[in-house]
Amino acid sequence: MLLELAVGDAYGAGFEYAAPEFVKQFNVGVRYQQHPKWINLRPGSYTDDTQMSLALAEHLINGRKWDELSLANSFVEAFSRDPREGYAQGFYSVLTQCQKGSDLLRLLAGHGDSDKSGGAMRAGVVGLYHNVDEVLEKSRIQASITHHSVDGIAAAQASSLMVHYLVHSLGAKEDLGEYICSYVPGNWNLPFEGKVGSNGWMSVRAAITAVVQENTLLDILKRSVAFTGDTDTVAAIALGAASCSNEVEKNIPLTLLDGLENGTYGKDFLTKLDKQLLSYSTIQKENISIEAGEDRSAQQTLSLSMNTRKNQASS
Ligand SMILES: [Mg+2]
Repeated sequence: MLLELAVGDAYGAGFEYAAPEFVKQFNVGVRYQQHPKWINLRPGSYTDDTQMSLALAEHLINGRKWDELSLANSFVEAFSRDPREGYAQGFYSVLTQCQKGSDLLRLLAGHGDSDKSGGAMRAGVVGLYHNVDEVLEKSRIQASITHHSVDGIAAAQASSLMVHYLVHSLGAKEDLGEYICSYVPGNWNLPFEGKVGSNGWMSVRAAITAVVQENTLLDILKRSVAFTGDTDTVAAIALGAASCSNEVEKNIPLTLLDGLENGTYGKDFLTKLDKQLLSYSTIQKENISIEAGEDRSAQQTLSLSMNTRKNQASS
């Protein structure tokens, strides 16, 4: 999941807010593109979308406390050990001043009410939890740190539910938008058209559209970028979620898999985290089945004893 998300992020980063003609010419899904303006961002490098997602993945795997301070610690830790391009300028500058999570919360106090896509771009990982109420609540908390607005939180919850619905096979891919509408206010079931601006709902709705209307990871990737605008965020959300669907063909070209950065926190690191996420999700699922089994056997014992009482009463 993180690997595909990072491919989407790195591929989309070459096209972020680039001219439509540039996108049309180079969005062929074969190689990472050098961004026409941001020369420091090297092709195949991922950005904030992936770094903050892997921060949440580590947070989840390590069973850290799910509150704003602990989550802020995880965000700061991921950035401090590997500062990189791609963050919004203001947030980048804030992160460079932080040594721990409490610094981040202090510096963001009074400013964390954005309705942009930051809470949503990293929220897919949260969808791995098995209980939908837990997904919604945990997504709200992680988004609130930087995007404490009704729309910012709704976009994050919708993004988490994309993964939740697909990874737990809760229904057909085409009904993804309807499912999200049943939990989060918004027109998540309506296809998105046009350029994706900076609002969180735009990125998430465009990502839902790409996942619902295309059936392979490569087509979803190209479709995400073809919207133009905030292409790395759309592609990161869409590919992370689509990688969890058994209706989607996993056909990311080798040129993109091999071309993804592979330093300390690159491809191999993400692949390892993906394996840990998978086993975390499987263990959680098994625990839930065991609990359900215990419930069932408790119910059987109860109905057995009720029948015995009934028999005793009638005899
Ligand atoms: Mg980005």
